Amino acid sequence: MCGIVGYVGKKDCTKVLLDSLQKLEYRGYDSAGVAVFENGDIRISKSKGRLAVLEEKLKKEGWINGSCGIGHTRWATHGEPSDVNSHPHGNARVTIVHNGIIENYQKIKKYLEKKGYVFESQTDTETVAKLLDYYYDGDPMETIRRVLGEIEGSYALGIMFKDFPNTIYAVRRDSPLIVGVGDDEAFIASDVPAILKFTRDYYLLDMDEIAVLKDGNAEIYDVHGIKLEKQLLTADWDMEAAEKGGYPHYMLKEISEQPEAIKTTIIPRINNGMPDLSECGITTQRLLNYQNIFVVACGTAMHAGLVGKYVIEQLARIPVTVDVASEFRYRNPILTDKDLVIVVSQSGETADTLEALRLSKRMGAETLAIVNVKGSSIAREADMVVYTHAGPEISVASTKAYMVQVAVFYLFAFELAYAKEAISEEECKRLTKSLMDIPDIINVVLQQSEQCKYIASKLINSSNLLYIGRGLDYALSMEGSLKLKEISYIHSESYAAGELKHGTISLVTDGMPVIAVATQRELFDKTVSNVKEVKARGATVIFVTHSYKTVESDVADYKIGLPTIDDILMPMPAVVPLQLIAYYTSVLKGNDVDKPRNLAKSVTVE
Ligand code: GLU
Repeated sequence: MCGIVGYVGKKDCTKVLLDSLQKLEYRGYDSAGVAVFENGDIRISKSKGRLAVLEEKLKKEGWINGSCGIGHTRWATHGEPSDVNSHPHGNARVTIVHNGIIENYQKIKKYLEKKGYVFESQTDTETVAKLLDYYYDGDPMETIRRVLGEIEGSYALGIMFKDFPNTIYAVRRDSPLIVGVGDDEAFIASDVPAILKFTRDYYLLDMDEIAVLKDGNAEIYDVHGIKLEKQLLTADWDMEAAEKGGYPHYMLKEISEQPEAIKTTIIPRINNGMPDLSECGITTQRLLNYQNIFVVACGTAMHAGLVGKYVIEQLARIPVTVDVASEFRYRNPILTDKDLVIVVSQSGETADTLEALRLSKRMGAETLAIVNVKGSSIAREADMVVYTHAGPEISVASTKAYMVQVAVFYLFAFELAYAKEAISEEECKRLTKSLMDIPDIINVVLQQSEQCKYIASKLINSSNLLYIGRGLDYALSMEGSLKLKEISYIHSESYAAGELKHGTISLVTDGMPVIAVATQRELFDKTVSNVKEVKARGATVIFVTHSYKTVESDVADYKIGLPTIDDILMPMPAVVPLQLIAYYTSVLKGNDVDKPRNLAKSVTVE
């Protein structure tokens, strides 16, 4: 949700800002803009559309030559995507870029209008720019503090005052922001990949701290203006990790990286063949305390939680409830200190998930975060954190982050089940060993890429399709369906296979594609019966199943065979063809695979 960047140094600032913004385009691509100091004035260039449009504009209308500036790539929340709503906002005196939502902007706007301010855009952001201008008294820090006292909501802001040339001020509340430092240069950015081309060293800006970037340096102050000594962090991702590396799209690269991502996530957490999450704060004593587990997340991360539910319940026999974060936080959940709330988020900044975490803590539950981004808000606020080591995920449609979230759920379930004496040490070791074999199995499944592409070619002209499955396969089909619709724009629904005949089967017409997932031996014959029901009504069936079963042509029009492994671990290899089908359908439809319309990654707004 919006990417903001800033640069102070000796390089061509406009170029640095464009390079950095390109790495943040996954956060939004409705419009882009930069504001750069040029000969003592702040010059702004912005336009609706992708970054490439802005770059063209700058080339045509005149590059801004300077060495200090701020930039923005937008995912609109308030006001349509348009030139005038693009960031930066402000006037010749104060200019800002913003990620987040100012909840009381209407009130501030009315107040400022009475004071004679005229608003150009429909954004919430413009009110902050104008409020800064209104309070400005020659002291930027004091002005910022005053404004922070009045605005409500979430924000990461990059601010420039004309009177303080070549200086950037930055603050945040709930939206993420890092401060990068290099040789005689400093940066602000919403996320680490933006600065990797220039430096790997950065500070995490905490809530209500103010960063001041000037003369190639960054200083951070607390809300009272006292200078802070913060810990300098080093990104363990390099630039290559954030590049396409020869792949046509980030999504395909990230799908291919899954075996490695699983290894780097699970191997450090296996000790003598047993799962060991003690470095994350998970102890046997804690595990024995839990009577209920809640998994709270959004989108794909929530689907990882659905797999987690099945596995935990099956192995450890503890009830697990999975909730969408935006529902959980407003449904007044019943939580006690005997409950564990597991929050899952790739970015660690997902606004609803973060609020669900805070609510859970307030209600006395213990909290465990499964996140990919080090030092993110969710990671910092949870009682326990298991970092997934997927590396940067740039494609908006999540693949490898889902995979490693699922891997962590397995490790957790094994450890919990063993602690509860629901499984023996021998069984725990056997399951852990099987989990360690998964990367190789996925490498084999990835070889079915061409078959997935062929199947995708059969889907591109459909306007509706169904995914069905039972048990773990139902959880999987939900993820397959989401993946397909978000990047191919084909409407799809996932349904519990046995539930179809209670209404949804009326949608099945001649030639309608139905993707059936059947990886659970116990449920296989039942799913086959459901598939026959849709087949009898004209559906074109794509069957994703163990290769050991020979599925007859009266059941499947197209097949994807999966290796035979423990049923409980099947979601990991089985999701791969679903990801590839979605990917190729999007490619064949000519869509922008990595940046699907209306979407953005890292949803830092409610
Ligand atoms: N609310 C701002 C806008 O719509 C920023 C949006 C965001 O951070 O996603 O321009």
